[in-house]
Amino acid sequence: MEENKVIYCKNCGAELDGNAFFCNKCGTPTANSEKITPPAQPETQNIDPNISKKDYMKLCAPASIKKAVRNSAILCYICGGITVLASLLLNPLGIIDGLVFIGLGLGVHLTSSRACAIIALVVAVLEVVLTFVLSGTLTGWLWIIAGISCVIATNKAHKSYKSFKSGLVSNPNLHDFQ
Ligand SMILES: [Zn+2]
Repeated sequence: MEENKVIYCKNCGAELDGNAFFCNKCGTPTANSEKITPPAQPETQNIDPNISKKDYMKLCAPASIKKAVRNSAILCYICGGITVLASLLLNPLGIIDGLVFIGLGLGVHLTSSRACAIIALVVAVLEVVLTFVLSGTLTGWLWIIAGISCVIATNKAHKSYKSFKSGLVSNPNLHDFQ
């Protein structure tokens, strides 16, 4: 049997639950609330307003955007990897296709480049169309999904980078670095 600890308000003396953060009579913070550390403020003071998109993605971008970019690149690696493996015996040209797609995925991964993403999507569409024309089979939809997700992810990254930069410029407190 564990008994709930009781504390007393340092302002009005009301008896409070041992876990309370505020007095429910007068609202004064209890000793518990002093244990809560405020969320760390991002260190924006030392950020160069001309930060490159690459550095932004590495240092300041929201985790969800980093994840979207990484996941879309991983889809490219998977598509490219499968294509390389499947082509090893049958089709030397397929190896090049696969490597190109892996390379574009790497470009998206490392630089969040929208250009790489758009090229990846174009390559994916060409690949599917070409495969259909040559063999009559409609395959390679995963390439298209990879290409589209690269475009969406790098576009998000770009927008977030732009608004981050304009936020830095419009905040007068951030002009006294260097
Ligand atoms: Zn009180």
